[in-house]
Amino acid sequence: MSEPSETRVTDPERLLREEWWANHGCSPAGLYGDDGELQCNATTVHRPLDFRRDPLTDLYAVVQQLRLARAAAAWTRACETPTR
Ligand SMILES: [Zn+2]
Repeated sequence: MSEPSETRVTDPERLLREEWWANHGCSPAGLYGDDGELQCNATTVHRPLDFRRDPLTDLYAVVQQLRLARAAAAWTRACETPTR
C-alpha cells in the first residue's frame, strides 16, 4: 500500500464553500483565508460572510444575487456598446 502523496479535499460541501468564497466576485484582497477561515467582510457589497459556518442556503442566496447582478450589469454594458 502506498501512502497518499497529498492531502485532498474530497468533501463536496467544503469544495463548494471554497469555490463560493474565492469566486463570489469580491477582490481577493478583501478575502480572509488564514487558518482555514473562509470569510469576506466587504460590507459595502454584502453583509459579512463566513463561508465556513454560514448555512449553505444563506450563502447561496447572496452569491446568486451577486452573480446575477454582475451578469445583468455586464449585459447592460454590452448592449450599450456601439457596434462597428
Ligand atoms: Zn465578498
